[in-house]
Amino acid sequence: MPFDRIGGQEKAVAILRNALRNGRLAHAYLFIGPEGVGKCLTATTLFKAMNCQSPPGPGDCCEKCPSCIKVNSSNHADFIVLEPEGETIKIDQIREMQKRLRFRPLEGGRRACILNAADCLNDAASNALLKTLEEPPQETHLFLITSRPHRLLPTILSRCQWVKFRPLSPGQIAQILQRDHSLVGEKAHFYASLAAGSVGQAVALSDRVDFEKRLDWLRFFSSLFQKSAEEIFETCERLAKEEEEIGDLLDLWKIWVRDLVVFKVRGTGATERLINHDLLSDLERDAAKVSFDRLEGIFASISGVQKSLAFNVNKQLALETLMLGIKKESSMGHR
Ligand SMILES: [Zn+2]
Repeated sequence: MPFDRIGGQEKAVAILRNALRNGRLAHAYLFIGPEGVGKCLTATTLFKAMNCQSPPGPGDCCEKCPSCIKVNSSNHADFIVLEPEGETIKIDQIREMQKRLRFRPLEGGRRACILNAADCLNDAASNALLKTLEEPPQETHLFLITSRPHRLLPTILSRCQWVKFRPLSPGQIAQILQRDHSLVGEKAHFYASLAAGSVGQAVALSDRVDFEKRLDWLRFFSSLFQKSAEEIFETCERLAKEEEEIGDLLDLWKIWVRDLVVFKVRGTGATERLINHDLLSDLERDAAKVSFDRLEGIFASISGVQKSLAFNVNKQLALETLMLGIKKESSMGHR
């Protein structure tokens, strides 16, 4: 069932499907919630259900009829999607949409306009949109999608029915990553744990932070106390040229230190709380070598470097200072 693919949003989906079954869909909805949790997918699925020619059940869609197929291939004449052009949604985009809304739906069913990132409406566009919200065209439903509702005009907020979408749990995200993004097992778990409730963010992370490289960087961290100053300088010199890589490396190290703290507090009984829980034996080994105080010190130094990097400091020098500091802190545990 297509609605089942929207993981973790049972309440929002139930509200909308009930409204559809009872013929009480609002003219304008505001979908509020973090990015990448299924707001757009829900609006699209609802539109398919409104127009499906052979629904398998009330308030559902088949994915096989001409109408469903047209939506899935972005070819449905009555399914209008607006995205910000550059930073904003502009008045010309709203006017263009309004031109299309003057006529009845072309395919004879219902029509939907999705405004993605509706908080990017500029003032002129917002005021133009108000006219549509005040005199909603027939057979038409507007979906304003946003993670930042406070940026919308109060007059717009008050004319929409609000539906809230929740951040997803790491378990729900891992399931979606496995099903729709062919990330399996530990990989899905790792990116899901880092994604702050958003599938979109998990997918972006999986593109950026290579799973195998993570192991290299964590091994480097764990063996810093054995590295010579020469090796550290060489690594820092290379890294200083790769801005994105520095950011990811420091994030990974912080997560590792965080996992070490969790492991020290909870032991092997809390593996589901660990982000790197595929590396249990490495965590166990490292946790035994280092005290809470030192972990706290290391965490603070990494955060300090992250902050200073935002101010254009000498990257190489900042990294060298950090790594030599961690080497010193962790060497003390090996005496
Ligand atoms: Zn269908």
